[in-house]
Amino acid sequence: MKLKTTLVTGLFAAFAAFPAFADDMKVVASFSILGDMVEHVVGDHAEVTTIVGPDADAHVYQPSVADARAVAEADVIFVNGMGFETWSDTLIAESGTDGTVYVATEGVTPVLVDGEIDPHAWNALTNGVVYVQNIADAMSEAMPGHATEFQANAASYISTLYALHADTLQRLAALPEDRRTVVTAHDAFGYLADAYGMNFVAPIGIDTEAEPSAQELASLITQIREDGVAALFVENITSPALVQQIADETGLEIGGQLFSDALSERGGPATSYLAMFEHNLGQLLAALESS
Ligand code: ZN
Repeated sequence: MKLKTTLVTGLFAAFAAFPAFADDMKVVASFSILGDMVEHVVGDHAEVTTIVGPDADAHVYQPSVADARAVAEADVIFVNGMGFETWSDTLIAESGTDGTVYVATEGVTPVLVDGEIDPHAWNALTNGVVYVQNIADAMSEAMPGHATEFQANAASYISTLYALHADTLQRLAALPEDRRTVVTAHDAFGYLADAYGMNFVAPIGIDTEAEPSAQELASLITQIREDGVAALFVENITSPALVQQIADETGLEIGGQLFSDALSERGGPATSYLAMFEHNLGQLLAALESS
């Protein structure tokens, strides 16, 4: 009887140590856009938990007890880095997790806005490619038994990203020079501007923590009048009030809503990274192609 118990326990131990049986690996992604990329790479081989969900602002997020538990139980944790998640270092340290932390922007060339690193690197598709490859490499390390599949998933996803990148370059290149400057609520599109020859102006900087003073807003409105801004956009993660005020004072119309830092809720127009980018491109073109 004793021998039998030992044998069964021994078998379980052997299975647990064998990578092919480690299908219940837990992965945490810090925000919704990154979570979607991770899901594309891992398929159903890992349970993916996203901390900052759809339509939520990751800059000013306050982690919950449930978030700390998810991080504590995670085998792998993905963050954007570049100072995007101001709360993640504390959350990870205080959770006591044994999980491995990977920075998805590793290898991205940073864009500076007013001397600070712009963390919104995903808003250029060529950077999205870097994120996806980093995720595939990290997950291949964590679950070597599935490495071939993860790399294949990433390769197919990356080819779709490159196709959309080429399409975006071509469609935005067709815009006249005076139809390339737009206003959004915060500086979330510096990478899109650099990659596709656009200009973005915003009353709030690269994070959403500070609102502009009345004087800053007034000088921005003067700049908008002088620069010949072609359209204004509200965002899913910030209040539309500032953009509405700029619309009222400049007489410019609000061209639509862009998804800058988070996906939309299920049923919305931006439930994946690809859908989000396509939606933003469509909104920009609809407002800028007409004059
Ligand atoms: Zn942002």
